[in-house]
Amino acid sequence: MAEKQTYSQTITLGHLYPDQLNLYGDRGNILTLRRRCQLRGIELRVVGLGVGDALAPDEYDMLFIGGGQDKEQAPVAQDLYDSKGIGIWAAVEDDMPVLAVCGGFQLLAHYYRPAEGPDMRGLGVFDAWTEHKGPQTTRCIGDIALRWNNQTLVGFENHGGRTYLGTAKPLGKVLKGFGNNAEDQTEGAIYRNAYGTYLHGSLLPKNPHFADHLIALALQRKYGQEQTLEQVAPLVLNGANHAQAVLEKSSSYIEPTQAELPPLLIPLDDTLEWEAHASILERLGLHSEAAKALRTHKG
Ligand code: GLN
Repeated sequence: MAEKQTYSQTITLGHLYPDQLNLYGDRGNILTLRRRCQLRGIELRVVGLGVGDALAPDEYDMLFIGGGQDKEQAPVAQDLYDSKGIGIWAAVEDDMPVLAVCGGFQLLAHYYRPAEGPDMRGLGVFDAWTEHKGPQTTRCIGDIALRWNNQTLVGFENHGGRTYLGTAKPLGKVLKGFGNNAEDQTEGAIYRNAYGTYLHGSLLPKNPHFADHLIALALQRKYGQEQTLEQVAPLVLNGANHAQAVLEKSSSYIEPTQAELPPLLIPLDDTLEWEAHASILERLGLHSEAAKALRTHKG
């Protein structure tokens, strides 16, 4: 008989508009978060938040909002502002990790001006705005790679809107692809622990380091700095010895300051994930980046 898994910690994820905003497998981001948590003895509870549902920030540890076409975005834009805006603002100011992809990213900035029809008012979490320059404007479509935290992020983008950053920091610098507006090489936006990006793909299955970054932020915020390797159930493929070996290997690196130190997560066997990541880099002609990613993350 299969044993029921016991969990040492729980992360509750609020998934905004799972039925309306789910382009190009955005839901795969949630499957990745759940699996990576489960392998470490952490439960990921997912609560869907649809039109009309209020968002009480105290009930969540992380938020996710995916992308959608203009016709799917318009009906949720008003609801986002009316039913969830204050809750999202409170969550963001309280350092909750938030991932917003494409249409969701646009609605977390000041506004989205579609090619046709009225502006959609956004929440202004990101000091940025998005305009679609008209039906004749070419869409930004294709694989994309960017520099993030001295590493790469890869994904697939498809958007008509061009996003311009005010004071918001970009998520990364475009290496290949269009990014926010196909002009300034910026991609996405960051405010506190809220991340906006155009990367579908899905994003997290091909970027396990970014998935872990979000998980680590959620754990740190909920359980504080006491989160250590020993406190996490060692339900990882290669076991705690591998985790220890990775720690020892990395001990020569310059330690980040305490404030930016995320809780340690047991490393997982991400061979497949990094092969998928590197194959996108290869396809984009970024051969040395692909080799570097494989070298850095070799199990
Ligand atoms: N409707 C937006 C645009 O085309 C967002 C598209 C998306 O979420 N992929 O700009």
